[in-house]
Amino acid sequence: MSTECPECAAQVGFARAPLYGEIARCGDCGVEMEVTSASPIAVVVAPPVQEDWGSEAASAGALSVFTLQELAGDWNGAGGCG
Ligand SMILES: [Zn+2]
Repeated sequence: MSTECPECAAQVGFARAPLYGEIARCGDCGVEMEVTSASPIAVVVAPPVQEDWGSEAASAGALSVFTLQELAGDWNGAGGCG
Protein backbone atom coordinates (compact mmCIF):
# COMPACT_ATOMS: atom_id res chain seq x y z
CA MET A 1 0.00 0.00 0.00
CA SER A 2 1.18 3.46 -0.77
CA THR A 3 0.08 7.04 -1.11
CA GLU A 4 1.31 10.12 -2.84
CA CYS A 5 3.68 12.55 -1.19
CA PRO A 6 1.84 15.88 -0.82
CA GLU A 7 5.13 17.70 -1.29
CA CYS A 8 6.74 16.09 -4.31
CA ALA A 9 4.04 13.64 -5.51
CA ALA A 10 6.38 10.66 -5.16
CA GLN A 11 4.88 7.34 -4.15
CA VAL A 12 5.32 6.72 -0.43
CA GLY A 13 5.04 3.08 0.52
CA PHE A 14 3.92 1.65 3.84
CA ALA A 15 5.00 -1.78 4.99
CA ARG A 16 1.72 -2.06 6.91
CA ALA A 17 -1.43 -0.07 7.24
CA PRO A 18 -0.51 3.29 8.78
CA LEU A 19 -2.27 4.49 11.88
CA TYR A 20 -4.18 7.73 12.10
CA GLY A 21 -1.82 10.48 13.20
CA GLU A 22 1.26 8.45 12.36
CA ILE A 23 4.20 10.39 10.97
CA ALA A 24 5.76 9.09 7.80
CA ARG A 25 8.73 10.42 5.90
CA CYS A 26 8.96 10.70 2.16
CA GLY A 27 11.99 8.80 0.93
CA ASP A 28 12.24 11.10 -2.05
CA CYS A 29 12.15 14.65 -0.67
CA GLY A 30 12.41 13.81 3.04
CA VAL A 31 9.33 15.77 4.06
CA GLU A 32 7.45 14.48 7.10
CA MET A 33 3.77 13.83 6.64
CA GLU A 34 1.01 13.04 9.06
CA VAL A 35 -1.52 10.35 8.29
CA THR A 36 -4.97 11.89 8.45
CA SER A 37 -6.82 8.84 7.21
CA ALA A 38 -5.85 5.18 7.39
CA SER A 39 -8.24 3.86 4.76
CA PRO A 40 -7.95 5.10 2.18
CA ILE A 41 -4.56 6.44 3.12
CA ALA A 42 -4.48 10.23 3.20
CA VAL A 43 -1.58 12.34 4.41
CA VAL A 44 -0.79 16.00 4.90
CA VAL A 45 2.59 17.65 5.25
CA ALA A 46 3.40 17.62 8.95
CA PRO A 47 4.09 21.08 10.41
CA PRO A 48 7.75 21.74 11.21
CA VAL A 49 8.78 20.65 14.67
CA GLN A 50 8.58 23.59 17.04
CA GLU A 51 8.38 23.45 20.80
CA ASP A 52 7.98 26.71 22.71
CA TRP A 53 10.46 28.68 20.69
CA GLY A 54 7.91 31.10 19.33
CA SER A 55 8.79 32.92 16.15
CA GLU A 56 12.31 32.08 15.13
CA ALA A 57 12.52 35.08 12.79
CA ALA A 58 11.43 37.50 15.51
CA SER A 59 13.96 36.06 17.95
CA ALA A 60 16.74 36.34 15.41
CA GLY A 61 15.76 39.93 14.64
CA ALA A 62 15.75 40.93 18.31
CA LEU A 63 19.10 39.27 18.80
CA SER A 64 20.57 41.18 15.86
CA VAL A 65 19.40 44.53 17.23
CA PHE A 66 20.78 43.69 20.65
CA THR A 67 24.12 42.70 19.14
CA LEU A 68 24.30 45.94 17.17
CA GLN A 69 23.66 47.96 20.33
CA GLU A 70 26.40 46.07 22.10
CA LEU A 71 28.79 46.78 19.27
CA ALA A 72 27.84 50.47 19.29
CA GLY A 73 28.58 50.60 23.00
CA ASP A 74 31.95 49.02 22.48
CA TRP A 75 32.78 51.48 19.75
CA ASN A 76 31.85 54.44 21.94
CA GLY A 77 33.85 53.08 24.82
CA ALA A 78 36.90 52.34 22.76
CA GLY A 79 36.71 55.54 20.76
CA GLY A 80 37.93 57.79 23.55
CA CYS A 81 41.52 56.97 22.88
CA GLY A 82 43.28 59.74 21.18
ZN1 LIG B 1 8.19 13.80 -1.16
